Amino acid sequence: MYLSEEHELIRKTVRDFAEREIKPVAAELDEKEQFSEENTVRMGELGLFGMCLPEKYGGQNMDTLSYIIAVEELARVDGSHAATLAAHNSLGIKPIMDFGTEKQKKKYLPRLCSGKELWAFGLTEPEAGSDCLGTKTTAKLVDGKWIINGSKCFITNGSADISSGVTVLAVSGTKDGRKEFTTIFVEKGTPGFTRKTMHKKMMWRASDTSELFFNDCRVPESNLLGEVGMGSKIMLKTLDSGRLSIAAMGLGLSQGAFEMALQYARERKQFGRAIVKFQVISFKLADMAVKIDLARKHLYHTCWLESQNKEFGKEAAIAKLYCSEIAKEVADEALQIHGGYGLMKDYDIERFYRDQRLLQIGEGTSEIQRLVIARKIGAV
Ligand SMILES: Cc1cc2nc3c(=O)[nH]c(=O)nc-3n(C[C@H](O)[C@H](O)[C@H](O)COP(=O)(O)OP(=O)(O)OC[C@H]3O[C@@H](n4cnc5c(N)ncnc54)[C@H](O)[C@@H]3O)c2cc1C
Repeated sequence: MYLSEEHELIRKTVRDFAEREIKPVAAELDEKEQFSEENTVRMGELGLFGMCLPEKYGGQNMDTLSYIIAVEELARVDGSHAATLAAHNSLGIKPIMDFGTEKQKKKYLPRLCSGKELWAFGLTEPEAGSDCLGTKTTAKLVDGKWIINGSKCFITNGSADISSGVTVLAVSGTKDGRKEFTTIFVEKGTPGFTRKTMHKKMMWRASDTSELFFNDCRVPESNLLGEVGMGSKIMLKTLDSGRLSIAAMGLGLSQGAFEMALQYARERKQFGRAIVKFQVISFKLADMAVKIDLARKHLYHTCWLESQNKEFGKEAAIAKLYCSEIAKEVADEALQIHGGYGLMKDYDIERFYRDQRLLQIGEGTSEIQRLVIARKIGAV
């Protein structure tokens, strides 16, 4: 697919970095369930955080496609590192850039672009997953302070030492009989705010996933993001962009799995010849290549729509659904090509097979994407 020189350079730079710094340690970090602060800082030094932000806020002034290529290249090597980058950029930084005041942008963004600090977006709760109307966390404005009570779960980048805060979606009241949602910043160290890392994940084991608890947690009124009652709008816009990141992770993971399978099929000999010579194997590889090619074209087109400020909600849902579903299919066939060895941790395909599973669940499950698409095409 044709890309500009600038985009090709980003791909090469991030690929070199991922191959050099991440690939050699990815399996061990996964095994130990260890988040790498060192590699996170390095990603920051490479300029991968806040890539699309103006330089005055510490960004690189790049377009959405550049960022998506960066996520894709990390995911080609490791899902956990890609998750750290994607969540920080799409869920942490982007809502602040899109809805923050000038003062908030100057306060938070340069720090968050450096890679020395991460920021999270707290939407999911024990009883509010796909249905955010189930949100129970409350925020009440009393004497110039927001008082927050409730809890969040499954929050990426919420509890690592370098995670400096979270944008929390809370119910701030009711309007016309409906819950009114508001988004508020809560910084690490605020009294009443506690964080707990969630362990024993099947996938993304080297990414930081957390439970967050708010117990009469008081933050200044100025920690409001956007306006009171704007929470749903902020959440929906954030999720649209977040879907592109998950799509990029599906695409990158598929590309990595495909490359492993192709190499293995060329090297593995059975019945006196390389297994790639069996038509059934070469057709599996051909089917993978077709899916990856179509996924990439659709995702890049959606990035273009976003960069042009055109409506991209339907395309983002299609990209998220398709890229995450093909990641499942491609990883499965790539593992099949590895035979019994694919089930052993000595081979990276085993980790890829586990990592792909989150992609059909996070940031809106496949069922919810179908619901979004069905609504957009007027089918419901
Ligand atoms: C590793 C990880 C990282 C995450 N990071 C974050 C984060 O940074 N921030 C954050 O806020 N959240 C995060 N999440 C949460 C994630 O977005 C949710 O898990 C996801 O939205 C699904 O919610 P749920 O798990 O509660 O499932 P549920 O909503 O309970 O869904 C269960 C099943 O029911 C189906 N279902 C639900 N409603 C419908 C419907 N109307 N029609 C048809 N089927 C339906 C679902 O598709 C699914 O199959 C993360 C999750 C994980 C595992």
